[in-house]
Amino acid sequence: MKYDIDSLLRDKNLRSVEIDCLLDEPPPETAGGLGFDSAGAAALRGTLRLDGELPALRVMASMPYAARCARCDAEIKGTLEALVEGPVVDVNSLEDKLSDDYITTEGGILDLSLIAAQALILAAPSKLLCDEGCLGLCPQCGADLNRGKCVCPPKATDPRLAALDRFFDK
Ligand SMILES: [Zn+2]
Ligand SMILES: [Zn+2]
Repeated sequence: MKYDIDSLLRDKNLRSVEIDCLLDEPPPETAGGLGFDSAGAAALRGTLRLDGELPALRVMASMPYAARCARCDAEIKGTLEALVEGPVVDVNSLEDKLSDDYITTEGGILDLSLIAAQALILAAPSKLLCDEGCLGLCPQCGADLNRGKCVCPPKATDPRLAALDRFFDK
């Protein structure tokens, strides 16, 4: 989804543009690279205001995903959301091309698909958990500790480790 900002600005009566679109594809790299099993099409909703000194974009990007909990392997279904907000300038008029104070267009074209992809990648958690307090799996028997305690003793019974335990207890 791309907007030609220059042509929008030519219409002096146009004060804002409502953005409500579904990007056909999930943004590239968002599925595999972020540890998702799958990702759905990303939606973008918000406004592009044209009546200020600089055009200003405010959109919420959201993308449904399915993944597995990093601790207990349970299936997680969720929606990743990222707010993109800021003044819009053309990348060629910026001295610091890597400045993140601005949302950039190139040749007057605002590429919303790219903007959504970048924002979603930044917003993705480094570790996907079914719950912050997920107890994970027992390292010994593999039982899901969220469903209750397993019968494994709390500490390893390996005699060498038991000796170490005694050593550290002193
Ligand atoms: Zn979990
Ligand atoms: Zn166990």
